[in-house]
Amino acid sequence: MTAQENDKAAWLKGPRADCSSVPVARGRSWRLVLLGAPGIGKGTQAELLNQRLRACHLSTGDVFRAALKSDEDPSAAMTDALGYMKRGDLVPDEVVINMVAERERCMQCAGGFLLDGYPRTVDQALALDELLAKKSVALDAVLSFELPMEKVIQRLSGRRVCSKCRKTYHVTHNPPGVEGTCDACGGDLFQREDDRPEAITVRMKAYEESTAPLIDYYEKQGLLIRVAAEGSPEEICEAALESLGAG
Ligand code: AMP
Repeated sequence: MTAQENDKAAWLKGPRADCSSVPVARGRSWRLVLLGAPGIGKGTQAELLNQRLRACHLSTGDVFRAALKSDEDPSAAMTDALGYMKRGDLVPDEVVINMVAERERCMQCAGGFLLDGYPRTVDQALALDELLAKKSVALDAVLSFELPMEKVIQRLSGRRVCSKCRKTYHVTHNPPGVEGTCDACGGDLFQREDDRPEAITVRMKAYEESTAPLIDYYEKQGLLIRVAAEGSPEEICEAALESLGAG
């Protein structure tokens, strides 16, 4: 089983679940944070990097979406968190920090990790540093995918996601062969609730206020690598790998 097919149960379902397999790193194992405005293509880059480096793509947004779809009753904290998410607001730091701390096993995984959507605030970054230090592991780099804001908004409003396998498309830049249907698994494509115009405005404001300062934070630590998010997803991924010395 490849890392790509790993069910990431320990991440998506929490500490009581076990992953179906431990990903085997190709060469060294990488521990990376991916930064970038919503819609910049971070999720797509995470998938491509996962195929090349084998490290699991760990998205905090995916944890919330998995809880939304789950048949199990969410905890009170999770119900609260999902309310923020549906409105396009950031979930409070304390809730997200605790959620990631519960998943500390993923931070120590031999396959490494690609953190997507976390940290999103400086307080979350401080909490992550503390968690990693406690586990005696360190980040290798922080990849910051960058693009002018108007292009980001264009990408977000055209994004569609497969309801079955989560593969992402764009109505004009990366359309499926058959409109509304996933090329990979035949699932129905949908627009995420938080990709609707009302929510996009709120998310962009949250990004500018809370997440952009992370770029400074990691730059000061000497971990930041800027990647221009222009060109095809494969070209962007190659540029990222080259910057890491993993090309
Ligand atoms: P994403 O898929 O990363 O865009 O996340 C979707 C939504 O989940 C966000 O708009 C937030 O409501 C919530 N979320 C995910 N990660 C975080 C985080 N690190 N901090 C706060 N809220 C988050």
